[in-house]
Amino acid sequence: MEMETKTVVLYPGVGVGHLSPMLELSRGIHHHGGGAVAVAVVLVEYPFGDPGFAAAVARARSTHTSVSFHVLPTPPPSPPASAPSSGDAEDDHPMVGLLRYLRATNAPLRDLLRSLSRPAHALALVLDMFCAHALDVAAELAIPAYFLSATGAAALAVFLAVPGLRAPAGAAFRDLGDDAVLPFAGVPPLEVSQLPPGLADDGALCQASLRLAARVPDARGILVNTFEALEPRAVQALRDGLCVHDRPTPPIYCIGPLVSPGAAAAAAGEDDAHECLRWMDAQPDRSVVFLCFGSMGAFPKHQLAEIAAGLESSGHRFLWVVRSPRGGGGGGASPVMDPADDPLEELLPAGFMERTKDRGLAVKSWAPQAEVLRHRAAGAFVTHCGWNSTLEGVTAGLPMLCWPLYAEQGLNKVFLVEEMRLGVEIVSRRSRAAGDGEDGSGEVVTAEEVEKKVRWVMGDSGGARELRERAAAARDKATEALADGGPSQAAFVEFIKDLEAASNDV
Ligand code: UDP
Repeated sequence: MEMETKTVVLYPGVGVGHLSPMLELSRGIHHHGGGAVAVAVVLVEYPFGDPGFAAAVARARSTHTSVSFHVLPTPPPSPPASAPSSGDAEDDHPMVGLLRYLRATNAPLRDLLRSLSRPAHALALVLDMFCAHALDVAAELAIPAYFLSATGAAALAVFLAVPGLRAPAGAAFRDLGDDAVLPFAGVPPLEVSQLPPGLADDGALCQASLRLAARVPDARGILVNTFEALEPRAVQALRDGLCVHDRPTPPIYCIGPLVSPGAAAAAAGEDDAHECLRWMDAQPDRSVVFLCFGSMGAFPKHQLAEIAAGLESSGHRFLWVVRSPRGGGGGGASPVMDPADDPLEELLPAGFMERTKDRGLAVKSWAPQAEVLRHRAAGAFVTHCGWNSTLEGVTAGLPMLCWPLYAEQGLNKVFLVEEMRLGVEIVSRRSRAAGDGEDGSGEVVTAEEVEKKVRWVMGDSGGARELRERAAAARDKATEALADGGPSQAAFVEFIKDLEAASNDV
């Protein structure tokens, strides 16, 4: 540690999907920075008691031993950012509360950064976008600050363009009508209805998102967890300054895919491998459909029953990660985790597990996804289109069935299906049962749809074969990007050079 001259402080905010790419970034910084750069990760106590995040932090501490972890003390409650509450239900949206919480961590973050900086020892800060308010701390302490985008380039292009596109009218996109097409640069045509709800409407969530988006160009650079060959149009639009409307766009470093290499215990055949991997070892090559909906995706019981029936009638092998419905039985996700831990037998239809035990495995809450996807037995991935999951699917070379649930996943689905052409949509329809209030979304994916898409993606039609070929080609491009001298490695080198230059500037 004595020879280090710089510490890069990573602040991922909260959520597994935000922590994972930061941890992979730490590996890259160690690799490219040699012994001269130390990495510190700043964590916050998750205000909603997310057990998945706590478990991910515990895993990170054991696997990233060269990183120092610092937990910020819980700040006192802070008032809403905008003046008096509009009375909008979104004021109570958990995301708004979460962003307010993260803003309140500025004071303990400042204290921590002061304690880490010492003479002749420079600091740099890499922020998750949800932590954009920490730019104020960076400016105050003259620490160069970068963002790491937890989304891909296309979702970033949309996010950064929203303030400018809204500015002329000042009105909510929703007022233009759900089928109005918005002129985002670098992405396929997007209708208002395809935007994340917070961006389409005009509530507190939208205002908070606009404030974040407006701050991002203030950073010294933006690291994007993607590779150029995956999203060339969006990367170009960002670089050409077509997304940020009122200022230059900071340098864009496409350093991805930042995907976990997986634990050593994942190696096939090892006794202490996770039960999912041991089960996968016993399956034929490319025969298993893997279903997993991120760190927060959960379905109401009636939707679980539809999935179960569809898998059963498809006749295909499957590995399915099932999470308890959130409180009240609704689906989707929010940052508020429901720790309810119902046994699988009670969540799934009677007799389902017994009837499918020779070709299917359902596990509760969590599977080592990155390793499962890379296993030779994996054949297709039913995904909620979270960005980490998307990249893990891409690097595994698997065709994807896209079932977005929350956040920017609806956008990722459009990009995956229409632009990258690496996935096919699983289509939901309005359901009377769901619309009656059992599921907040009012939508259901039927057993027939699950069966049809699983049969198709695992089948031998020309379309399915072409999809598999495109998926394999994308995997090869990802490998090239990460190889020595590949574009993502080159971008990483540029980033490290800029870090050097930044510490000379201050
Ligand atoms: N993940 C996992 N096992 C699970 C669920 C999720 O390993 O059972 C990992 C997944 O591999 C990914 C991350 O959690 O790296 C989820 O991030 P993503 O951006 O896909 O979705 P989010 O959880 O943020 O919605």
